Amino acid sequence: MLARGKIILFLNLCDFGMKNQEVARIFRDTATMLELKGENPFRIRAYERAAQNIESLTDAIESYVAAGTLTTIAGIGKDLAAKIKEIIETGKLTYYQELKKEVPKGLVAMLEIPGLGPKTVKAIYDALKIDSVEKLEVAAKSGKLANIEGIREKTQENILKGIALVKQANMRIPLAFAASIADSFVEELKKNKYTGSIEVAGSLRRLKDTVRDVDILVTSEEPAKVMDTFVKNPLVERILAHGETKSSVIAGENNIQVDLRVVSKENFGSALMYFTGSKEFNIRMRSLALKRDCKISEYGVFKTSGKEEKWVAGKQEKDIFSFFNMEYITPELREDRGEIEAALKHELPHLLELKDIKGDFHVHSRYSDGTAQISEIAFAVQKRGYQYVGVCDHSRSLKIANGLSIKEVHQKKEEIQKINEKSNTRLLLGTEVEIDSQGKLDYPASVLKEFDLVVAAIHSGFKQSKAQLTRRMVKACENKYVNIIAHPTGKLWGVREAYDIDLDEVFKVAADCRVAMEINCHPQRVDLNDINAMRAKKNGVKISLGTDSHILDQLSIMELGVSTARRSWLTKEDVLNCMNLEELLKWLKKQ
Ligand SMILES: [Zn+2]
Ligand SMILES: [Zn+2]
Repeated sequence: MLARGKIILFLNLCDFGMKNQEVARIFRDTATMLELKGENPFRIRAYERAAQNIESLTDAIESYVAAGTLTTIAGIGKDLAAKIKEIIETGKLTYYQELKKEVPKGLVAMLEIPGLGPKTVKAIYDALKIDSVEKLEVAAKSGKLANIEGIREKTQENILKGIALVKQANMRIPLAFAASIADSFVEELKKNKYTGSIEVAGSLRRLKDTVRDVDILVTSEEPAKVMDTFVKNPLVERILAHGETKSSVIAGENNIQVDLRVVSKENFGSALMYFTGSKEFNIRMRSLALKRDCKISEYGVFKTSGKEEKWVAGKQEKDIFSFFNMEYITPELREDRGEIEAALKHELPHLLELKDIKGDFHVHSRYSDGTAQISEIAFAVQKRGYQYVGVCDHSRSLKIANGLSIKEVHQKKEEIQKINEKSNTRLLLGTEVEIDSQGKLDYPASVLKEFDLVVAAIHSGFKQSKAQLTRRMVKACENKYVNIIAHPTGKLWGVREAYDIDLDEVFKVAADCRVAMEINCHPQRVDLNDINAMRAKKNGVKISLGTDSHILDQLSIMELGVSTARRSWLTKEDVLNCMNLEELLKWLKKQ
């Protein structure tokens, strides 16, 4: 499991452009409120257009405010300029706050349902006075919506599907958040002398990037006493069930469900396998068992002949795998993506481990928006046993994150050279350079060639078309100075979805141009995720792991990146961070 607890969770400033997003969001929401109120379509359109234009800006909106040039942005007149200024200076917009009071809250929540626009929401509200997702669900189920003009049978179905989706999405939280909650429960339970074996199961044990609930299994001679400890945990917000062998609670800030089950010693292994899943993996294991005249369940593996069943394995997970004469499958791989076949042939890959990591490629220093000095970074990574670290600061156009001017790049270079003379860990002069809306980089070739390591990234203009975004990324890969693309899909949990980009196209070019794709270890990013990292590998692309540390404690989230790499079937050979310094320097030199 993860050695968590020390993981520092907060949004990186690396996400500047955040203000652009924030202003755009407020304008878009304003448009929505106006639409729900049935206001003038031209006004509504003006807010929407402004939001769109702000999102595609490549400069931070604050720089326009500072320079007094807001009205040079297309679609921004005096009135909207004043509103932007208010948002930047006070963090809110009074006009928007007032509008919000006039519109029932539930209507806004209804808009979160995919495919349900303001017009339909307003029509439903006007006709049936439905002002919440709950009422909407009831009405859709009973077919009442179909009486409203413009709503067809199909729309009603889609609304129900959409509601299910929203409910699902709202219930998943990033792995690291769930893991720290699970840890505190496990620690408390371990203090209880009646707790025997204890393990976390479910998608948390499989180290999936997001987790819906936490499942804990224990063995105990006195289950009731263990259950007591469980429901009394200070993190518990609400008790859903308090039973002899199973209890459920809602816990922590994220209101995640935590279940505790007491299982028998004899079947701990089979219960653990069953509750670890995935569902797909369990289905395949069951059919494998059937083919061998066996039955597998949470209560063990049973040999069947006629009506008779004989228990044959289940005490430990590894007994079950060896009973079927297969290799032990680590939980990260249990997704039915070929791991069962590989285990039967004894051909499972030797997955990446934390101890294979020889360096970090994405660490910010105080030169841009990090908090540590370069000498402090050198000391911290040396303590982790690294051979090298890429000190990558933002580039000049990223003013909000204090991007470096060319002069500052030279100062940083000098400082790094000095520290390198006496340090055991090699500091790489790096940059996290902006890819502009056209795919050009933020420094000229004469500067780019001075860096040991060039990590290129998109931090603005997320709403471009798929073709534009793909072309932009491809162009960056083709730039002969680029070594790594950071957080390739831009996904940020709770903030935005991955942007629309043709990754296969990008991967092909990256493989040709020897550009690595990053697994950004930050818990809210996990970008690339497991599926995309697997695709990258298939295309022959190297993967690099970067913590995107802005404070030194974040260096430890390397572990999260390693879990994603393991779920992606990556081995040492696939990962740039496993090269020793000499190999790495050779790899980085492209000319
Ligand atoms: Zn970044
Ligand atoms: Zn960064």
